[in-house]
Formats: sequence, C-alpha cells, structure tokens
Amino acid sequence: MHDPSHDAHIHLDFFDDPESFARDAESRCMSLFACSVLPEGFKRIATTCKDLKNVHAGLGIHPWWVADAHLHDFDDCFDRTRWIGEVGLDFSPRRPHHDLQMQVFEHVARRCSESGNKIMSIHSIRSASSVMRVLDQTGCLHNNICIFHWFSGSTDDLWLAIRAGCYFSINERQTQTKRAREQLKLIPVDRLLLETDLPPQHNPQTTIDDVIDSLETARASLEGIRSQALEDQLTKNWLKLLSSMS
Ligand SMILES: [Zn+2]
Repeated sequence: MHDPSHDAHIHLDFFDDPESFARDAESRCMSLFACSVLPEGFKRIATTCKDLKNVHAGLGIHPWWVADAHLHDFDDCFDRTRWIGEVGLDFSPRRPHHDLQMQVFEHVARRCSESGNKIMSIHSIRSASSVMRVLDQTGCLHNNICIFHWFSGSTDDLWLAIRAGCYFSINERQTQTKRAREQLKLIPVDRLLLETDLPPQHNPQTTIDDVIDSLETARASLEGIRSQALEDQLTKNWLKLLSSMS
C-alpha cells in the first residue's frame, strides 16, 4: 500500500510553518489543495510555498469569515491561481451573515464562471440546495470543477450535484453517520477524492503522519462502505483533476 496521493482539502494557512509541513508532504509524494479562509491566507501560502510543486494554493473566503473579507482582495488574487477554496455557504443557526454569505458566494461563483478552468472546494453546511442554485445560475458548473467538501446535504441535493458532474472530497469524520454512509454508496467512483480538513484552527500541531493516518482511515471506511478497493482509483481521480487544467 502507498501513502495517499493527495489531500483535497487541508488548511495549510492554519499551520505555524506551512512550508515545512508541505515539504514533509512532498517527501511522501503527496499533493495538497491548500484551502485558505481569507485571501491573506492564500497570499501567505502562495508566497511561502511558491517553490513547491505539490502545493496548490487555494484562494478562499470561508463562509465563517465573510465579515472580515474584502472582495477586492479576492479579485486582486483571482488570476494568480486556478484553485478556489474554501468558499461556499453555511446556514447553521449559529453562523450569522447569511445575506452577506450569499453575496460573497455569488460573487465568487460569477468570477469562476467568467474565467472558467478553476477547481473549487465548496463548503455547504445546511445550504447544499442554495449552493447548487448559485453554481447553476451563475453557469459555474459548466466550465469549472466543483468539489463538494464534506457533503452533508439531502440525498436529493446529492443527486443534483452528481448529475451536474461535481466531485466529492471525503474525510474520516464524514463516514460516521448512517445517512452519510448510505450517500457514500451513491457517488460515482470516478468522482471521489480524499481530504482531512486538518488542522483544527486552534491546534496547528498536526504532523504529516496525522494527515496520512486520517486519509487512510477515510479511505478504509469508504472501501468498507462500498465493498471495493479504491486506492488506485482515488489516485487516478486526483491525477485526472490535475490534468484537466489547461
Ligand atoms: Zn475546511
């Protein structure tokens, strides 16, 4: 068995020393979709990891941080990367600014639709239908790769996303509820990716071994749920995604 080929959603901007973590990942042949929660995080990763080919610096405005975001910062960085994340919506009652979240996500989706050729990592807690509506109405689904990070919506919304060609990045914690386990059987095998969503914001002590353990646990759970070996397929999916970029 090999180390996992990728982490499709990791918060490199939460590490104290992102470059040293990224070098550890490089030594294990792992590439990273380094999501940021604000454009400052993107700039930090894009600068500190600029020489590392395994780091794909994502430009994000996370729905929890919309009140701190400036769209002109996002726009200024937009052409510097094809990786957009973490973006999306979170309509949990304890997450405020729903209108502002919508405005920001619509802006992000419109920009991606205008440019095309982006790979997006999308947060959609209690909001999968609204996320799908925005992606559809802006035209974003046609010329970008949309990855649902930690999908937790309804099965109807899952089908909409599957039919629209979306990918799904799966983490260890996501495989634990009964509904999620049922849904994870429905996703076409060529749309599955692995992620960790690590490190936790206030505990950046995560090591490469923690990340690899978490990815392997997610893969093993997914293999159990689907009764199929997935290692080669997941690597293939990731490589296909990388090669889709012109
Ligand atoms: Zn995240």
